[in-house]
Amino acid sequence: MIARSTQPTQNVDWRHALREAISDPLELLDMLGLDRLDRRVSSLASQQFALRVPRGFVKKMAYQDWSDPLLRQVLPLQDELNDVANFSTDAVGDVLATRELGVLHKYANRVLLITTAACAVHCRYCFRRHFPYAQAVAAKDNWASTMRYLDGHPEVNEVILSGGDPLSLSTAKLRALTDQLQTRPQLRRLRLHTRWPVVLPERIDAELLDWFGSIRLQKVVVIHSNHANELDAAVGHGLAALRARGAELLNQAVLLRGVNDSVDALKNLSEALIAHSVLPYYLHLLDRVQGSAHFEVDEARGVALVDELKAHLPGYLVPRLARETAGAASKTFG
Ligand SMILES: *Cc1c(COP(=O)(O)O)cnc(C)c1O
Ligand code: SF4
Repeated sequence: MIARSTQPTQNVDWRHALREAISDPLELLDMLGLDRLDRRVSSLASQQFALRVPRGFVKKMAYQDWSDPLLRQVLPLQDELNDVANFSTDAVGDVLATRELGVLHKYANRVLLITTAACAVHCRYCFRRHFPYAQAVAAKDNWASTMRYLDGHPEVNEVILSGGDPLSLSTAKLRALTDQLQTRPQLRRLRLHTRWPVVLPERIDAELLDWFGSIRLQKVVVIHSNHANELDAAVGHGLAALRARGAELLNQAVLLRGVNDSVDALKNLSEALIAHSVLPYYLHLLDRVQGSAHFEVDEARGVALVDELKAHLPGYLVPRLARETAGAASKTFG
C-alpha cells in the first residue's frame, strides 16, 4: 500500500499560506463554532479595515469562545464604529514626521522605514490603520529616497524596517535594500519590527534565513506578540533559526483590554517569550486611533499592572510601559 502523501507545515510556501488567510468574518466564526448572526460582529468595520488572519493563527484560538484573546485582536466588531472623542486618524504624528518617501525620523540616530503597507495579519487596534500608505511606502522608488536621506544624515546609525510589516516584502526586495544599506559606513545596526514570525512562521524559510544570515550589520529583531497563546513550537522554531543567524530577539506588545490586561496574562507572556530567548521590550499603551477605543486600558491601570508584575518576575522580564506622544523626542514611559 502506498503511504498517503503528507505535507509538513514547515514546507508550506508562505505566499500560499498568506493567500489562504481568512478574510471573511463569517468563515472565521464558522471555524470557531460561533454564531454568525451575533450582533457584536460588524461587516461595516471589516469594509473599513479588512479582516485578515492566517489559518495557523486561528488554530491557536479556543473553540466557541468569544473572549479568546487572539480572536479579539482580529475580529471586526461594532465597537469600532463608535466615534470617540480624542481618538484620531493620525494619533502619533506620523504624517508630520515623514521626511522622505517612507522615512520617519522622530528620534535621534535612528530612522524608521515604512517599507510596505502589507501585513500578515490585520490587528484591529493598529495605529497604522488610517495611515496614508499609498503616498508613503519606501520600497516604491527602490529605496532611492531612503538612501538620499541617509546620505544627508550621517548621524543616523540604526535603520528600523517597519511598515506595515517588512517581511511582507519578497526576500529579493529585502536583499536589495540591505545590499544598499551595507554600503553606508555610518550604519551599525539593522532592526526589524515584524509580526510575521508570530502569526505566520512559515515566512522564516530557507531563503529568508540565507538573506538574514548574510547581513553584516548587527541585527535586532523585535517581534510583536500580545499573548502567550500566540507562541507555539512552530513560532519557537523560526525564532531559534533567526537567533542562530545573529538576531537579538525582543518583543513589543500592546496593552489591550480583554487580551492581556491582567497580571497573569502579562506574566505568562514574559515567561513564554523567555522560553524562546526573547526579552520583553515595550508594553505600549494604546495609540488613540479611531476605531480602537474599546481596547484602551488607562495609563494608571497600566502603571499598576507593571508594578505588580515586578513582584512576580525578574527585572529583565518586566516590559517597559511606553507611550508614543506626537512631537516627543522618544517614547515616553509610565
Ligand atoms: C517607536 C519608534 C522608533 C523606535 O524607538 P525606540 O525607542 O528606539 O525603540 C523609531 N522611530 C519611530 C518613528 C518610532 O515610532
Ligand atoms: S502587524 Fe503590526 S502594523 Fe500590521 S496590522 Fe498588526 S499591529 Fe499593525
